[in-house]
Amino acid sequence: MSASVLVVEDHPPSLELACYLLTAAGYRTLAAADGQQGLALALAHVPDLILCDIQMPRMDGYALLAALRANSELCAIPVIAVTAYSMPGDRNRVLSAGFDGYLSKPIVPETFIAQIGAQLPAHLRGGGNP
Ligand code: MN
Repeated sequence: MSASVLVVEDHPPSLELACYLLTAAGYRTLAAADGQQGLALALAHVPDLILCDIQMPRMDGYALLAALRANSELCAIPVIAVTAYSMPGDRNRVLSAGFDGYLSKPIVPETFIAQIGAQLPAHLRGGGNP
């Protein structure tokens, strides 16, 4: 079965684009509009990978990551930060917070799926050949 990817993003067009590209590549997607909703969906579905914005209402990406890591069923799920931060040092701040990877926004459709696949074990990778 294809991998399930939870996308947590408060900017609707970005959320829609990420889910569209993932679905087209053969992934199953779950969409959440903020960290609280993301945590609820993670608990309910235990996805294979989580893509997470940093700046979000109610629960930001750092708080969501902390909540995931504190849960014994969810702590091993790779969590990739997807954020518009682009100042020198932002990448290090995100990675030192414990995220497994970092993608900068805006999402580039031509390279996005390859970047996601690089975060997954081979048998869970999409890529358009389901
Ligand atoms: Mn945001």
